[in-house]
Amino acid sequence: MTQHLSDRITHMQESATLKMAKISRELKAQGLDIIDLSIGEPDFDTPQHIKDAAKRAIDQGYTHYTPVPGYPELRKAIAAKLKRDNKLDYTPEQIVVSTGAKQSIANVVLSLINPGDEVLLPAPYWVSYSAIADLAEGKSIEIPAILETNFKVTPAQLEKHITDRTRLIIFSSPCNPTGSVYSHDELQALAQMLTKYPNVYVICDEIYEYINYTGQPHTSLASFPEIKDRVITVNGFSKGFAMTGWRLGYIAAPVWIAQACDKMQGQITSGTCSIAQMAGVAAATESLQPTYDMVAEFRKRRDLVYGLLKEIPGIKANLPDGAFYFFFDISSFFGKKAGDTVINSAEDMSGYLLREGQIGLVNGEAFGDPNCIRLSYAASEEKLLKVCSRLKEALAKLA
Ligand code: PMP
Ligand code: GLU
Repeated sequence: MTQHLSDRITHMQESATLKMAKISRELKAQGLDIIDLSIGEPDFDTPQHIKDAAKRAIDQGYTHYTPVPGYPELRKAIAAKLKRDNKLDYTPEQIVVSTGAKQSIANVVLSLINPGDEVLLPAPYWVSYSAIADLAEGKSIEIPAILETNFKVTPAQLEKHITDRTRLIIFSSPCNPTGSVYSHDELQALAQMLTKYPNVYVICDEIYEYINYTGQPHTSLASFPEIKDRVITVNGFSKGFAMTGWRLGYIAAPVWIAQACDKMQGQITSGTCSIAQMAGVAAATESLQPTYDMVAEFRKRRDLVYGLLKEIPGIKANLPDGAFYFFFDISSFFGKKAGDTVINSAEDMSGYLLREGQIGLVNGEAFGDPNCIRLSYAASEEKLLKVCSRLKEALAKLA
């Protein structure tokens, strides 16, 4: 029977992160001792006070459809959080709560992008940015940054790619997959440059805001008044509160963009889960101590893995300033072989490491950098030690 799939879905790439996590899960179910460091999610459990708030919500009858952009108490709590942590002034009507920050980004892109509009993606970027831009029939323009500059682009590099068709820039800081953090001064320079281009909007994805080892406070791009009315701040609960499964993210944006996102999700998903939203109120308003404890652990693991990666010949790695990923260069292995396997790309490498080393990592092509591979260190020290030793062994077999 003919299958009449749309061009839209036929052309869409499967999410590389979720695909690798799925393959690793399947191989584990077959009994293989796979250590999966592909998907980016805290290995910690959601803090107890947040779980308790969710249980209370069920008992209190928070079980009905919710207002599409989120419960008023959650939007108020998020506005207060943005003031407390980011010195940002937003009213609750500027906040839209969604089923994960992934949906928040999709809402914004689908609301702002017409077919052919250009979307600038400083690369490496998170996998779904380009897929979502494609879905909106936008044209993704990648602006590559290299490991030697900690994978950061300068305003001048970005400016070279701004045209009459440029409508949106999407980036994350701290960055997935590189862990790079843009400093206050770097963001200020970016804001300054953008004052020249009043038709260009920016999605600043701050979902890793708390996972920052620089010792400097997190800077939000929206804190620069000269461009605040063109910035959409994206954030969520998945990373900072170990709440990936709860599916809770949000935007803070100019009212007209918030209203468009409200309309968009009103036709696609409606408001997100009532119980998750009430858990979100607790996360946004109560103690951040569990978050700080988790981040202290991530920092130890980052230092551990950095030391181990440095000892592996052929790998080029930088020390990331935030998030929980290493994005290291493995291009020195291109052209090398082990048995019948030839490594010509990062994709070949992630396949080889899965088969030979039984480790799940994500190839860099999906993040816009074909020389690199991503390792999530949101895993126990024991697993990280094992992975690094398997990695070293598997790479040593390539000649
Ligand atoms: N942005 C970035 C940079 C991410 O790494 C992720 C991964 N979860 C998301 C957005 C989406 O997060 P969620 O949908 O779980 O809120
Ligand atoms: N953001 C995480 C990652 O990059 C979760 C998976 C996903 O949604 O892509 O691995």
